[in-house]
Amino acid sequence: MLTIHTDTKIHRMARDNAPVARAKSGETVRFETLDCFGCQIKTEDQRLGGLDWSNINPATGPLFIENAMPGDVLKVEILGIELDDHGVMVDGPGEGVMGGVLTDEATKILPVENGMVRFNDKLSFPLRPMIGVIGTAPAGDPIDTGTPGAHGGNMDCTKIGAGTTLYLPVNVEGALLAMGDMHALMGDGEVGVCGVEIAGAITVRVTALKGCALPTPFLVTEDAAMAIFSAETVDEAGTGATLAMHRFLMNELRMSDHEAGMLLSVAGNLCICQVVDPEKTCRMELPRAVTKAYGYQFA
Ligand code: CA
Ligand code: CA
Repeated sequence: MLTIHTDTKIHRMARDNAPVARAKSGETVRFETLDCFGCQIKTEDQRLGGLDWSNINPATGPLFIENAMPGDVLKVEILGIELDDHGVMVDGPGEGVMGGVLTDEATKILPVENGMVRFNDKLSFPLRPMIGVIGTAPAGDPIDTGTPGAHGGNMDCTKIGAGTTLYLPVNVEGALLAMGDMHALMGDGEVGVCGVEIAGAITVRVTALKGCALPTPFLVTEDAAMAIFSAETVDEAGTGATLAMHRFLMNELRMSDHEAGMLLSVAGNLCICQVVDPEKTCRMELPRAVTKAYGYQFA
């Protein structure tokens, strides 16, 4: 299997990034990934302020997918996720929702063992591995890997895990897919500015879809289909995600505008992905029972 190692990483998603590997459409590729700190944190004595900030949020890649052309949709099937044996968390003044009430910085290293992450002496939680940063190159100006947008990027969506399928836009030839910033576990919102940040590897199958009208980024899990949207405020992100799913229902399931809107109000769940990145991210979740009832098959 083609494997991309962590020595080939980027800190901005850009059309002029040189591809580090090429894959055929339909090929399976393994991306080894650093944690969001570039794996700089080795002990709990280290603080956020002491890190080399030029090495924050590395994304492994980019991968050039043959026959992926602008206007296509890149289907990324997340086949498997491997995690390191420990994760890292930090906080501090100015960081996250609690940034205004914290007076100093702290670091926590969290052991990962037997499918659990140990938070402290009293609390352990089952792993819920997810990919924080995954995206393609934008057509216009480069976007740093700490920022989410229409290209994907730092969406920090807890649902982007193994067994799910993410649909991303192809804005430039080859798509230039890159990913990183995995979390062993994170709550919706990522309110403290990070999840359990962890290195590992992600195995994906990449397929260029022609004539696919899905709104992107779009995620399909076992239970739900989700439109993901990032914007300057949570309000705008929520509106964007909702309207994207509304368009999906009208365009793909052929519902009327009223029927689609009422359905979202009854059965759609508008959720926050993260509130701590330069742009905020929301998702509108629609139960798969809806697409199944309409006989709709995802490409
Ligand atoms: Ca992130
Ligand atoms: Ca992160």
